[in-house]
Amino acid sequence: MEIIKIHGVMMDNVTMDEALEYVIGRLDRTGTAKIYTPNSEIMMQAQRDPGLKDILNQADLLIADGAGVVLASRILKRPLKEKVSGVDLVKRILENTNKRPASFFIFGARPGVAEKAAENIMSQYPKAEIKGWQHGYFNSDEEDTIINRINESGADILLVGLGAPKQEKWIHRNAHRLNCKVAMGIGGSIDVLAGTAALAPEFMRRAGLEWLFRLVKEPRRLPRMMDLPRFILLSIRRRFRLKKDS
Ligand code: UDP
Repeated sequence: MEIIKIHGVMMDNVTMDEALEYVIGRLDRTGTAKIYTPNSEIMMQAQRDPGLKDILNQADLLIADGAGVVLASRILKRPLKEKVSGVDLVKRILENTNKRPASFFIFGARPGVAEKAAENIMSQYPKAEIKGWQHGYFNSDEEDTIINRINESGADILLVGLGAPKQEKWIHRNAHRLNCKVAMGIGGSIDVLAGTAALAPEFMRRAGLEWLFRLVKEPRRLPRMMDLPRFILLSIRRRFRLKKDS
């Protein structure tokens, strides 16, 4: 896979089909693949937190969730092929169970939400076996028990929706203790699968305006979302060599 470096973060330049193929390929390999889908906010957080940048760079698959990351890659003249959002990739993996059955453990979101997501998945994707779920509001002393449950479930794919960067840090810290083939950070996708959060309408998603939809739904996100224009501005400055590249 071609790697495209965006502000020091090594993004995999893959299409949605290639990302899906990678995930399916990992089901027959040993070890746990760490998959993250950073958006502009996380890319900007990684500029301020070298530890987070390091975690992202140790992913097995790092894909661009969000039009902002793709736009930055174009500004930097190292264009990524396309946006591969976490929620869309999860849906493609679930659909693909028709051809290649796989099992899942859903980890994250508020109590009751992962369970609802599991119900919806089982009715919509009958070949996707849900081996267990766990909400995302736990104490650190419960972590060992949670990991044991995930491992004992025998699930192939662990979907971790603890919000970013908590989920990336959790996966990075625990991957060596996991038996699943894939551990993927999926942000708020569990809420979407459960039907407790809506995705932006298709025309907004296509226009790269998911951030606007999200902002209207959750105005409290505004301070965090200022990282999007900051990220684009940083890209423009680096493009024109106004700031040292990394
Ligand atoms: N979440 C969680 N545990 C936490 C914090 C968040 O399970 O300690 C869940 C939250 O319920 C939601 C998801 O993480 O389902 C994504 O949260 P948020 O929208 O804040 O994160 P982002 O979209 O920025 O990754």
